[in-house]
Amino acid sequence: SNRTFTMIKPDAVANGHIGAILEKINAAGFRIAALKMTRLSAEKAGEFYAVHKERPFYGELVEFMSSGHIVAAILEKDNAVEDFRKLIGATNPANAEPGTIRKLYAESVGRNAVHGSDSDENAEIEGSFFFSDLEKF
Ligand code: ATP
Repeated sequence: SNRTFTMIKPDAVANGHIGAILEKINAAGFRIAALKMTRLSAEKAGEFYAVHKERPFYGELVEFMSSGHIVAAILEKDNAVEDFRKLIGATNPANAEPGTIRKLYAESVGRNAVHGSDSDENAEIEGSFFFSDLEKF
């Protein structure tokens, strides 16, 4: 597929990095197919990250992701999922390559500035979590 899904997380939104992150996304050749600034309730954040329910950081993750506004977007580019994960860098910014979004803007492994889907299937599921068919196409 040529689509992926991203969220700019509450840390990066609160720190004023929305514009800089969208600029990096565009500069890397992604087209923004859908975009919205919104907020997740704790219930919705828990649903989005349900696959991590048994992990020790789940409670912290849900609390953080519902702590402030986020920006959700569907992005288009050849090889979108893999190329976007390269652009954002490792989950822990301490291990992220120079120039990646997480190296530049993330605070810690928990507050790591952006999300990027890990498969075509999850990109579709996650995009549909935030956007209606009319918004998506
Ligand atoms: P994302 O799904 O957000 O793109 P990822 O695929 O790089 O991240 P996962 O291992 O799937 O990383 O973890 C999902 C999210 O859970 C991470 O982005 C991070 O916000 C949070 N997380 C992961 N490990 C930890 C940890 N040890 N402590 C706190 N939060 C964590």
